[in-house]
Amino acid sequence: MLENKVAIITGGTRGIGLETVRTFAENKAKVILFGSRKETVEEATEKLKEENIEAKGYYPNLNDYNEIENIVEEIIKEYKHIDILVNNAGISANKKIEDTTSEEFEKIMNLNVNAIFNMTKAVTPYMKENKGGVILNTSSMVSIYGQPSGAGYPASKFAVNGLTKSLSRELAPFNIRVNAVAPGITKTDMVASLPKEMIEPLIKTIPLGRIGEPKDIANAFLFLASDLASYITGEILSVDGAARS
Ligand code: NAD
Repeated sequence: MLENKVAIITGGTRGIGLETVRTFAENKAKVILFGSRKETVEEATEKLKEENIEAKGYYPNLNDYNEIENIVEEIIKEYKHIDILVNNAGISANKKIEDTTSEEFEKIMNLNVNAIFNMTKAVTPYMKENKGGVILNTSSMVSIYGQPSGAGYPASKFAVNGLTKSLSRELAPFNIRVNAVAPGITKTDMVASLPKEMIEPLIKTIPLGRIGEPKDIANAFLFLASDLASYITGEILSVDGAARS
């Protein structure tokens, strides 16, 4: 479904991002994964190699625009074009507002929102030059309902939806589609790090009766990245088993 496409996936070292790397590679894309640290990027690319998947890895500071711009230029030199960007790296929060420091709030915004701005700004000129592209963002079901603690996380995902909807309109004349996937609770390290007392009751309320798997989300990204979604832009696609909390 993605033959001859070049895709960058941030947060590609584990969880939803790593499964998206696999899924895109299985569908013939050339995949470049971004992670936060050299060790985790090397671990992920080695693991993929054992599965016969070649993926190049980088670990830029996603808040340093110049660093990103240089890496994107390097990627263009090697691959000639960038067709798909998946802005997936993200961190969550679950503390009450009185226990959250302004630095913690800023850290979430920096990765979940500002990094998307930086990555998108860096690839957009090349997509325009190439007369098209696909930008996909990882939102969350909390971008629709909020959550009862850790307000910075849903606030950041509301911003992701805002960027998605606005950029879809700005970039549509250049044949660049911009969509987001809003996962429900998905089985990754992010959820493993949250208290069981918080997660288990939530899983019980999911109408489809199970937690989401990274593959469920990766498949949604695959569809939106492919030409099957050629007339879809500005959408926030919920992939959450009809969870409504
Ligand atoms: P994860 O913790 O398994 O993976 C997070 C990824 O982000 C990793 O690859 C990590 O390298 C990267 N990352 C973390 N900090 C970084 C930093 N400072 N710089 C660069 N990269 C960094 O989590 P996941 O569940 O796979 O989350 C992926 C995305 O899905 C996030 O945007 C998250 O908000 C979203 N999401 C997850 C769930 C869920 O239930 N797991 C639900 C809704 C949305």
